[in-house]
Amino acid sequence: MRIFFDVDNTLLYSSGAEWVLRPGTRHVIAALKSQGHDIYIWSATGQLHCERLVGRYDLALFVTACFDKDPACPVKPDLIVDDDWYLVQKYSGILVEAFRGPDPEDRELYRVLEELTALGSML
Ligand SMILES: [Mg+2]
Repeated sequence: MRIFFDVDNTLLYSSGAEWVLRPGTRHVIAALKSQGHDIYIWSATGQLHCERLVGRYDLALFVTACFDKDPACPVKPDLIVDDDWYLVQKYSGILVEAFRGPDPEDRELYRVLEELTALGSML
């Protein structure tokens, strides 16, 4: 599947110059990639924002492409992971609780991996 991850409050908490990557981001993206999924990062903040995230956290090995979150996106998602309920309804996907600050105990992305792995084993 083509799985699209949102950036702000899904994979990243940012406040000014402070950036905090959500716990499990690298592990979960790497695991989904190894299961044969194609991973995309997109953001309403823009493609460059996604590319900065990928560069800063060394995720390029796992990420197929970055896009502006736009209906004209040249690749269509099979499934999205997002903290915005409206978008999850629109594209179908998995809703995550918004990541709104540093929280080492946060396990939302691991839950996503469990759900997708369970889904994959049923297909
Ligand atoms: Mg978001």
